[in-house]
Amino acid sequence: MTKEDLQKYCGEEDIISKPFSKGGFSYATDGVLIIRVAQIEGVEEQIINKPNVDSLWSKHVHEGDSYFPIPEIPEPESNVCTWCFGTGNVNPCPECNGEGVVYFSNHYNEYECDCETCDGSGFHIGDKTEDKREPKICKRCKGEGKIYKYGNSTVSGRLYNNKYLLMLKKLPNCVLAEAKDLDPGHFIFDGGDGFIMPLDPSFVSVGGKK
Ligand SMILES: [Zn+2]
Ligand SMILES: [Zn+2]
Repeated sequence: MTKEDLQKYCGEEDIISKPFSKGGFSYATDGVLIIRVAQIEGVEEQIINKPNVDSLWSKHVHEGDSYFPIPEIPEPESNVCTWCFGTGNVNPCPECNGEGVVYFSNHYNEYECDCETCDGSGFHIGDKTEDKREPKICKRCKGEGKIYKYGNSTVSGRLYNNKYLLMLKKLPNCVLAEAKDLDPGHFIFDGGDGFIMPLDPSFVSVGGKK
């Protein structure tokens, strides 16, 4: 695995936005999944002890646990991103300047309305606008032009989001341990290991996919 591969497992918050190294390993996490591989050159040492990987590993890896392969997981449904209309690029809307609302007033009142040009999104397709500012990558779909809708699946008695199970399935020979209650589930693959947080079934809406 390279530093770039590891970057794909990072989250958006500052503290987890880059892979980090500690004790001969390199790690990446987005808060739901954390992955650990042998230290990769160029991945900087962790500065503050958060997330506390030592305690995570010492608490939640149990000797004698059984590990199970991950079953077939359905691919997500996808919809065209309504912010960038599937282009992956956005410019601020020229009518509302990216605010999503327009203001006007007459003799009697001041008004504030959703901008009709951008349907209140504040964005406008790069190609079609007169605006000469550089198109930006759409934040909502991260430039993919699509929004994915993932269901959940039960693996070894615990409920997980399919997005993460599909990520695990891409790891060579990945197997997942039976998690205790809502503790993180330990997984192992050729080249590393990590944890994935299960979902609390009582917070998953009735009729949700299992
Ligand atoms: Zn607008
Ligand atoms: Zn988009």
